[in-house]
Amino acid sequence: MLERILKTCALVLVPLALASGVYADERETCHRVPKRVHRKVIRQAPRTIDYLIIHCTEGPSAQSAIGALQDRGLSIHYIIERDGRVLKETPEGKVAYHAGNSRISNMNARSIGIELVNWGEVYKKKNGYYVTPKLIKYNPEKYGDPVSGRNKLWAPYTKEQMESLAALTIDICQRNKIPTDRKHVLGHEDVADKQDPGAAFNWPWYIKEITKTS
Ligand SMILES: [Zn+2]
Repeated sequence: MLERILKTCALVLVPLALASGVYADERETCHRVPKRVHRKVIRQAPRTIDYLIIHCTEGPSAQSAIGALQDRGLSIHYIIERDGRVLKETPEGKVAYHAGNSRISNMNARSIGIELVNWGEVYKKKNGYYVTPKLIKYNPEKYGDPVSGRNKLWAPYTKEQMESLAALTIDICQRNKIPTDRKHVLGHEDVADKQDPGAAFNWPWYIKEITKTS
């Protein structure tokens, strides 16, 4: 298992095996590879966690998302790459700063945040090319054909990503006793003046998946 854990400079990349209950010790920092990752560590966070908040990175990769978060003094618990790999950025017991301007008070302290790597909203130019709101060229061959919703175009989420998200959600919600319903499992757009995860996110499929075993 240990060899499956990849170490980068300031984070630990955890494959989806994480979602089946194999967890790095929460006491380990993101700067060290856990010594005994096969040991299950069930620890209740000292804070009360009532919500799970889903975001999209509006970018091409987890690395770019981490850079963007750090530049803005923000943080997140998990990032899910397009191929389904789950990256653990902040221990669940620690507050991450991801739910800015939430209509629910103390949302950061009361939630776990997950970022999905995704470009978010895209536009089609007259020449047929797609661009992001920041006018970065969007490559549909690499990131998938945009899907329409709410009279906009959106980069699609991958099947692997959604399946990883569902497995991780079930695990997080079971351990933290968060009900797997739409009052507690929310999009950033549900609680703040944001539009992520956006119309490309398949809420009916996701809710059905996370309630299958509960
Ligand atoms: Zn967000």
